[in-house]
Parts: sequence; C-alpha cells; structure tokens
Amino acid sequence: MDRRLFTKLCLSGAASVLMANESIMEKKNVEIFLTVDDGWNHKKEILEIANHYKVPLNLFIIGKVIEQDPKIWQSAIEKGHMLGSHTYNHHKLSKIDEETIIADFKQYKNCVISSLGRENYEKIKFFRYPYGDMGNKSTKPTTKKLIEDNGWKTSWWNMDLSFASSSYGMRAYKDPKDQLAYFSRNLKSINVPLFHFKDPDAKAIELVIKFGLENGYKFARLDSKKALLS
Ligand SMILES: [Zn+2]
Repeated sequence: MDRRLFTKLCLSGAASVLMANESIMEKKNVEIFLTVDDGWNHKKEILEIANHYKVPLNLFIIGKVIEQDPKIWQSAIEKGHMLGSHTYNHHKLSKIDEETIIADFKQYKNCVISSLGRENYEKIKFFRYPYGDMGNKSTKPTTKKLIEDNGWKTSWWNMDLSFASSSYGMRAYKDPKDQLAYFSRNLKSINVPLFHFKDPDAKAIELVIKFGLENGYKFARLDSKKALLS
C-alpha cells in the first residue's frame, strides 16, 4: 500500500480496520460454536434457521423447559444439535444452599432421562452455569464436584451476543445488525457466542450464520473439539 495513503488511513483510523480485516481473512481456521441458552421462546424458529443452513447449535436448555416440550428437543438432537446441561431450575447458585443444588442436579438428570432417554443424558459433555453464577463459598465446591462427577466440562462463552443482555445491563444491542457487527469486529479463531431464545437473537443468529458461511468459517459442536473436552 502507498505510504501516504497508509498514513492518511492511519490518521482516519481506517487502517486499523483494514488490518484487522486482513488478519481475519488470513485465518483459515475460524471456528464458531453457536450457543443458545434457556429455551423458553422462539425455539421452533431458531432450530429451523439452523436446520435450514445445516449448522449445528450448542443448546443449553433448562430442565423444566425440556420437560414442557420434549419432542422439539428430541428432534433437535436427531438433527445433530448438541445438548448441554443448564440445570433444572436455573437458580442463581450463589443464592441457594447445597441441598437445593444437589436436588436440582438430580431433578435435571431424571427429567432428561424421562424426556429424552438415558442415552441422551449420557451424551451430555458440557455444563453452563445459569447467569454465569458459579455459587458462593459453600455452594461453589459442591457444584464443581457435581459437574465433575457427571464428567461434564464447564462451557463459557467468549462473546456475549445476546439481546437479553440489555436487560442485565451488560450490553444493549438495539438491532440484530448490531449483534452481527459486534461479532465481526471481535472475531477470534475460536468463537463461542452466547445467544438466548429471543426474537432478535433468532435474526442475529441467521445473520451470523450467513456471514460465517460466506467467509468459509466452520460451525461446530463443542463436543467435536478435542481441546475443549480435555
Ligand atoms: Zn441461562
């Protein structure tokens, strides 16, 4: 690039954008693990979008939500989406006691086995903390042990793309296009964006899928990545 043009771009701040885009283009191995939490609303719409583009989702569905409509989650698993644990009640683990947590894990197990079968329970490899809350001094070790006893790994997101975040005061997106803009600006080699089953998230998921496919990025299940399982 011409030096004068480069200086001019630097001054306008455009060069850093260009360079960031170039470095992303160089990354041949960009991986995207779409994670969608809870499961209350817009489940049909979000699953249909993912099925249409043949892209796997990593679903952290609340136990009592699975129980309400097991068929839709059974079909999601059959289509190749991954199911992860997100507890039965979606309590804030720092606000409850150890006994309640132990009971919740039991309830989650029973609910998945009765709704989706033991085989699908045993295929679960990841756990996600509701609200990202790991518990207090006494509940944290209990939960950690329960997760380990199940042979699960903790799954964290590395990009909050959820429209719901605005209600938690974390980041307010005004439009699904803002979610895509944030995603493309913060692209890494491994991307684990967090979404919820919300209407704007359904639109944002489709935008992210289209963007990823157009750029040749890989969409995958968390449990297909050896490094995440070890
Ligand atoms: Zn949640």
